[in-house]
Amino acid sequence: MNDFLKLQGVRKMFGNSCVLDNVDLQIREGELVTLLGPSGCGKSTLLRCIAGLSELDGGSISLANKDLGKQPPRLREVGMVFQSYALFPNLTAGQNVEYGMKMRGLSKEARRRRCEELLALVDLEDKRDVYPQSLSGGQQQRVALARSLAVQPKVLLLDEPLSALDAKIRKNLRAEIRDIQKRLNMTTLFVTHDQEEALTVSDRICIMNKGRIVQEGTPESLYTEPRTEFIARFMGSYNVLTRPEVMALFGGIDSSAESFAIRPESVVLFNGRTVHQEDINGKTLVEGTIHSVSVLGNIIRCAVDTAGIRLTVDLLNDGCWLRVEEREKVTLALDPAQLLHLEREGA
Ligand code: ADP
Ligand code: MG
Repeated sequence: MNDFLKLQGVRKMFGNSCVLDNVDLQIREGELVTLLGPSGCGKSTLLRCIAGLSELDGGSISLANKDLGKQPPRLREVGMVFQSYALFPNLTAGQNVEYGMKMRGLSKEARRRRCEELLALVDLEDKRDVYPQSLSGGQQQRVALARSLAVQPKVLLLDEPLSALDAKIRKNLRAEIRDIQKRLNMTTLFVTHDQEEALTVSDRICIMNKGRIVQEGTPESLYTEPRTEFIARFMGSYNVLTRPEVMALFGGIDSSAESFAIRPESVVLFNGRTVHQEDINGKTLVEGTIHSVSVLGNIIRCAVDTAGIRLTVDLLNDGCWLRVEEREKVTLALDPAQLLHLEREGA
């Protein structure tokens, strides 16, 4: 087996409520796996269990074939970065990075050398003697990352490390984290509630809901094949349709599913242009009215009312699109092959 970090049947109770319900998770060496789920679904609790900050009520966790069960946190070879920067405010960036090494009795010279390497890795060579309050949020989080890597952990746990940062810094730092993770071949479990973040950084994503992993796969497979309504809604702006709605739009359906989904970018919209036959081959045509239009940068997102159903339709904002206007009559071409048949939750 090349599973490096392995969780089997992990359970955690707080009083009567089951916060982690039989969680199985395997991560290969060098892999970056993301836990994606809404607030309160148990992501932080799972990381705390791996780090040894929270005790298990059932199941087991092993790292590099060693059972972590009886190991205290400091012997687990796990590095952790939290949402709040959690740096020691009275220590400089360099002293923060050196802290763990000092606790482990590394020589001053060795600490200094390793600290320089790590600050260079996170692009903060010139901030060694600066105190946290004089660093930006993004810089503090890089120091936290360097500090967590200082003791050469076997696995890195990142608990929403970017959530407190501005959108632009968040995007830059997530690319840097991914880059560093690959360079070090660092086995990493990354937690977020942001689906875009999960899609961009991960080798694999595990979607969590109410203490359980409900679907796992590559970013591509989760985005294109959500199994349930919860996942379809969570992964993107899918149109989720009931069975009667699908009957109204497509005239019939060969499926016993009760719930369906279709992606906004897979619906073709026409407004008064000549309809090209190749655009509609095999598709179902329905008349609709534009309810609203919003420009999201490279995408124009329209809400279109048709057969009593409001559909989200995305158009590529490529400059050659005819203007779409509110209250305008349009035709939609829906491809039955693009309709996903969703499973019931918990099935
Ligand atoms: P997430 O990180 O996904 O937002 P958490 O793991 O922090 O979720 O919390 C999962 C659930 O466990 C929540 O309902 C939370 O209220 C509860 N919880 C977390 N920590 C404790 C605790 N120490 N005592 C009691 N309940 C807790
Ligand atoms: Mg959390």
